[in-house]
Amino acid sequence: MNNNQKFYINGKWVNPISKDILDVTNPANEDIIAQISLGNKEDLDVAVNAAKKSFNSWSTSSVDLRIELLNKLKDIYQSRFDEMTKAIILEMGCPHNFASEVQTQSGLDHINDFIDRLKNFKFEYNFSNQSNNYITHEPIGVCGLITPWNWPINQIALKVIPALAVGCTMILKPSEIAPLSGILFTEMIDEAGFPPGVFNLINGNGEGVGNAISSHPDIDMVSFTGSTRAGRLILKNSSETIKRVCLELGGKGGNIVFADAPESGVRDSIRNVMSNSGQSCDAPTRMLVERSVYEKVIEDAIDEASKIYVDLPHKQGDHIGPVVSKVQYDKIINLINLGIKEGANLAIGGPEKPPGLEKGYFIKPTIFTNVNNDMEIAKSEIFGPVLSIIPFDTEEEAIAIVNDTEYGLGNYIQTSDLAKAQRVAKKLRSGVVYINGNSMDSGTPFGGYRQSGNGREGGNWGLEEYLEVKTITGWV
Ligand code: NAD
Repeated sequence: MNNNQKFYINGKWVNPISKDILDVTNPANEDIIAQISLGNKEDLDVAVNAAKKSFNSWSTSSVDLRIELLNKLKDIYQSRFDEMTKAIILEMGCPHNFASEVQTQSGLDHINDFIDRLKNFKFEYNFSNQSNNYITHEPIGVCGLITPWNWPINQIALKVIPALAVGCTMILKPSEIAPLSGILFTEMIDEAGFPPGVFNLINGNGEGVGNAISSHPDIDMVSFTGSTRAGRLILKNSSETIKRVCLELGGKGGNIVFADAPESGVRDSIRNVMSNSGQSCDAPTRMLVERSVYEKVIEDAIDEASKIYVDLPHKQGDHIGPVVSKVQYDKIINLINLGIKEGANLAIGGPEKPPGLEKGYFIKPTIFTNVNNDMEIAKSEIFGPVLSIIPFDTEEEAIAIVNDTEYGLGNYIQTSDLAKAQRVAKKLRSGVVYINGNSMDSGTPFGGYRQSGNGREGGNWGLEEYLEVKTITGWV
């Protein structure tokens, strides 16, 4: 019997107290592929008690022990890599190559990077040569970790690994839409032999376990990745207990294409928007194009989008799969219809299903041109394979349009003029700016400005999120 309907508490797979069950659907064919338990407050209480009890010993365990256990986890992850890929294909409908080379690989990359950071992290030091004060970094306590479905193992690894690394104990609640990768990851943690109570898994939804986590008096910190809507509720709910709340929320990335941008920059941007079926928080979903090259860029953009195939996940190739659920499908189709109603020009794609893919939640790569930044399709995070193209005349205007959003996660610049790119990058209000498609290096911080959140994940910044800082006077 598999562990899908169990929770992992105090080092054991246990039967939940709650009797609620949820079907998990494969978005590529609408088949029910698993059933999970939806936990309740009582289930959470048992897990929090276990995490609380284990905190004393785990928080004072040696860095060497934590590195040893994380290395074991890394080896197990590597040996079960293909199982993880299979879980992500099933729960997300993610095409095989993308699931393996990008989604599953991201988990391994984070484990590797955090092990390296931990080896060199300075938890304690003298404040200065002239001072008798001493600074220590100590694990914050019991953490509630809530993750989304769109990059399931990436988001889990970005939270669980640093929390384990610095000596926190935790309860993970993965997305109920894509819970299989989280269950498999928990089996790996169990196999690695972390002490009982250090890591606990409770499945559930936002109203149930999610709410119970953010209001729980014995949870010291919540780290949440998901929608700005849920982030707002979590922040409110956590206020009674003044817990630390780290939020990684939605985005509506701007992508400034200057007249001197290489054509490859435009084509790569189109691939970037449509990749993962448009379900990435930092996707460049608003393309701003300098008016002198507007028509040519639209031609290239349409041409590139026409080469992106939508197909079933098990097929080989660099096609895109379905979006994750009926709820997401309906939301995206409604927004595409709204774009048409708002007067934007539908240049390619649209609300009809791709030919031959009537079953499953498949959506054609869709591009709107002649969009203005006040339209709903330019303001809302659509979270599907949909791009809005907006013309601009001056550098200042482009910067103003990019910054005219409630979000601030990832923005993009395409130009051959590096000085201009650097000048503009500093003026864009977001946690990341990608110049000419260059990617973020492992260990750099990722997070948002404004309603895209307040946290920074990855590298030393990711470790610091789970630490309190203490000043001790008279140390020497
Ligand atoms: P979601 O907010 O619906 O759900 C995310 C998680 O929160 C799930 O586990 C869900 O059960 C839980 N949840 C929902 N309501 C809750 C509540 N009131 N209290 C506590 N928990 C609650 O988001 P989603 O649809 O799963 O994910 C897509 C969203 O995630 C997009 O907005 C995307 O931009 C965002 N995202 C952000 C980042 C980032 O790093 N900034 C990364 C990935 C995804």
